[in-house]
Amino acid sequence: MAAKVTEKRIQRKARKPYGCDVCGRTILENCDYMACSRLYGQGGSILKLKRHIHCDALVRRYAEQHNVDAAEVTVAEVVEWLDETCKTECLPGFSPQCEQDRFSCGQIIWNLLRHKPGYGAVVKSINETGGNNGE
Ligand SMILES: [Zn+2]
Ligand SMILES: [Zn+2]
Repeated sequence: MAAKVTEKRIQRKARKPYGCDVCGRTILENCDYMACSRLYGQGGSILKLKRHIHCDALVRRYAEQHNVDAAEVTVAEVVEWLDETCKTECLPGFSPQCEQDRFSCGQIIWNLLRHKPGYGAVVKSINETGGNNGE
């Protein structure tokens, strides 16, 4: 039987760049991110994770929609789910962000998260991460 996972999440501001454990891209210095710590079983091992605000929001949205514990969601299954959503919701070739990573797809975010509290923070997080197209 699998150990019970307890997850604690807290929003922080990055004092230096980190790697996001969900999308693999950089969490830039001075940007808000979500720090998660997971405890596996009583007195078990602790796993510390750092993730973008928007990546965290998508993982939680996945968990909610599939009625599973957010701490037990794998990145692979979220990516698969986003792939499906992207295929049905995005116009092919219309959203260049989709080619970078699924977690920054504006259409997906709009469809899945616009009614959620914290949507503004999610959009801000994507814009901060979005990188090189601002000039
Ligand atoms: Zn991320
Ligand atoms: Zn898309």
